Amino acid sequence: MKFNPTFLEILVFLVVCLFIYIWTKHGRRIRRWLQDYFRRRRGPRSLKPKSPEDCPLCTRDICFLSHRPKPEVVPWSERKSPRGRPKTIDTSGHACLNPLCDYFAIADPAIHALVSNGRRGKQRILYLKCQSCGGCRTSRYGTPLYWLKTPLARIAMVMTAISEGVDISAARRIFGHHHTTFTRWVERCGRHSERLHERLFHRALTIGHLQLDELVTKVKQDAERIWVWTAVAARSKLIMAFHIARRSSADAHQLLHQVWQRLVPDSLPIFTSDGLNQYFYGITAHFGFWDKPKRARKFHWFPDVRLQYAQLRKRRQGWRVSFLYSIVRLGSRQLIRAGLKALSLSGIVQTAFVERANLTLRELIAPLSRRTWSIAYDKHHLNLHIHWGLAYYHFCRPHQSLTVDIRGPSKRRYRTPVMAAKLVRHRWSVQDLLQLPVPEGVWLDAFPATKGCQ
Ligand SMILES: [Zn+2]
Ligand SMILES: [Zn+2]
Repeated sequence: MKFNPTFLEILVFLVVCLFIYIWTKHGRRIRRWLQDYFRRRRGPRSLKPKSPEDCPLCTRDICFLSHRPKPEVVPWSERKSPRGRPKTIDTSGHACLNPLCDYFAIADPAIHALVSNGRRGKQRILYLKCQSCGGCRTSRYGTPLYWLKTPLARIAMVMTAISEGVDISAARRIFGHHHTTFTRWVERCGRHSERLHERLFHRALTIGHLQLDELVTKVKQDAERIWVWTAVAARSKLIMAFHIARRSSADAHQLLHQVWQRLVPDSLPIFTSDGLNQYFYGITAHFGFWDKPKRARKFHWFPDVRLQYAQLRKRRQGWRVSFLYSIVRLGSRQLIRAGLKALSLSGIVQTAFVERANLTLRELIAPLSRRTWSIAYDKHHLNLHIHWGLAYYHFCRPHQSLTVDIRGPSKRRYRTPVMAAKLVRHRWSVQDLLQLPVPEGVWLDAFPATKGCQ
């Protein structure tokens, strides 16, 4: 048989060869380009809003401590006899914790009846006495120092090192204490910081722009990876909420539940996040209202019409980001741009601030470092360690981008995120933080350093 192809057959053969060559060389790129082309023509997939019935915390009806109503009691200075030595020891921040006393949980020194009852023990710890009910208690109650024998300066030094990224095994070699001592101190300080954040931030934050993201890490007890979800205020750099879990819808709901609890009622920030759609469900479930439309049998949940939320999507090739594009999920692009510009930001949809804050967290908290042996034992320990790291970040560590120029000899004022959020007047030392009483189960009426901030 004689092989005698026609011109057309040769042409078809060459075209097929060329196609196979191009497809093997650049097939992946062409496929992705086609997917993007059709996705752009189709527009982003529309998502169905969720309601509070989908949030595990809203449905469980978890009632966090609510603000105590302002007590209306006669100040002790007006009730007591004018005779006697004037008060010299500052008792602000402390309160009588006897629920039967008239001055229960009042931390204002102008109202409560606390006076010094002397210093005791080797460390000369101050004891306070309530002149109204006669109760006496150490000033360390409700602080991480309660029942600890080690001097305050030593604990403050160790905790500063731990919150600057020194891991526990390195701290053991530097300071010489047993590693269980460090673990216990981190747990105590973590619980204290958790209570402090919960009470200071509750319904107190006004935020213009909030960025959401999650960082990946591991714990010893769990073979799978876990995520730390974070919400960062773009202007004040406050990490207003975090949540450790998997990457499910329920976890996004729990993060947004915390955000919703900490914002001033009826205030709505502009949200931006990466391309994870779980954030959309969390936002729509927590910012909205129940209403009964005409002819409807039951109440329906409607997301707030003022909500503005955009996603920054990243197309990656291996580890490298090849290109970025944004999708507006709630609100409009013009409104988001105008809102961001009104906050003195560039107006571009981005998540740079939360990415930078996540890097700071990885630097400050040793178990979050990448490729480290010092990972936490379980989620509970990691949670408490992050709480302590955040307290240090919020109250003690000045943030470089929040520095402002002032008149006077110092010329610059270094500020912390809570100072920028107008919650605290000045920078705290670690010793201030450790000595602040935040008793469990009792909501004191005021923190001493927060007065006059608004
Ligand atoms: Zn909720
Ligand atoms: Zn009392």
